Amino acid sequence: MEELKGKRIDVLDKGFVELVDYMGSDELIVNAARVSYGGKKKNSDKSLIEYLIRNDHTSPFEMVEFIFRIKVPIFVARQIFRHRTASFNEISGRYTVYEEEFFVPKDYRKNTKKNRQSSEVIDILDENLIKEIKNSFKGSFALYKKLLDYGLARELARVVLPLSTYTLFYYKQDLKNLLHFLKLRLDYHAQKEIREVANAMLYFVKQVVPITWEAFEKYKLKKVEITEVDLQSLPKEKQNLLMAILEDLPNYLPSSTRKEELISQLDTLFGQDGGEAS
Ligand SMILES: Cc1cc2nc3c(=O)[nH]c(=O)nc-3n(C[C@H](O)[C@H](O)[C@H](O)COP(=O)(O)OP(=O)(O)OC[C@H]3O[C@@H](n4cnc5c(N)ncnc54)[C@H](O)[C@@H]3O)c2cc1C
Repeated sequence: MEELKGKRIDVLDKGFVELVDYMGSDELIVNAARVSYGGKKKNSDKSLIEYLIRNDHTSPFEMVEFIFRIKVPIFVARQIFRHRTASFNEISGRYTVYEEEFFVPKDYRKNTKKNRQSSEVIDILDENLIKEIKNSFKGSFALYKKLLDYGLARELARVVLPLSTYTLFYYKQDLKNLLHFLKLRLDYHAQKEIREVANAMLYFVKQVVPITWEAFEKYKLKKVEITEVDLQSLPKEKQNLLMAILEDLPNYLPSSTRKEELISQLDTLFGQDGGEAS
């Protein structure tokens, strides 16, 4: 595992995600959790982690921490910085001169009509437009240099640089909140570029805490939520059919805790005694 430290995954044209350091493992999580029962081992590590994940018993996952060094364009960094539960240290454009490096997309996408957050690939973007994009980067950087040469402070000269300029920062987060980050940023609603960063982080998470990731994927990512509103929007006979299937489902589940959990969710959806939604 030591060889993971310092490993770098290239992302977003000229960027990367590097694992600087991490603390903890699946074993640390179960040891922390078992303190609740006086340290006694009642079940396997895997089933304990699955239980913790399913029941949102999240504090043991805060024992594990990851530190990444990340280089991405500013427009992606802005999205990453929204995650307040991470700690950051970013290169300063007041103390350093930016490199002439800009993110050039590999695929060009247009917005879709059905979802404002989605975009789809345009097969061919006019070559002239691509040239114009690159020229605008060149022009911005030339002006930046000109302003610096003129004697303008770095903190002001940078105002002419585009959002595709790369920034570099350290990112530290505990596993509980990193899983939350990954859930949001691996999702198809998230912008493709931040998904690429999340996937690189996931590469490391999978290796450091494989049991936790498997449980998180099984119980938190691969699931379907049905609300009362969803149910009521179905025609009556489909409502009844779906309710009958859901009410029967606990009878087929091997794990008693999973059964109890599902029954309690069904009680919330259908009312304490189950039965039809009106
Ligand atoms: C697909 C997508 C689209 C988005 N679009 C927009 C957009 O258009 N505009 C925009 O502004 N943002 C947008 N965001 C950002 C989003 O609103 C969140 O700010 C971001 O995802 C961070 O999530 P978070 O607060 O859950 O994470 P974190 O900041 O890491 O917090 C994790 C959890 O800790 C708790 N927490 C942390 N800090 C506080 C606090 N101060 N008060 C209360 N609880 C706290 C919350 O429970 C929170 O869920 C978008 C995010 C996604 C994934």
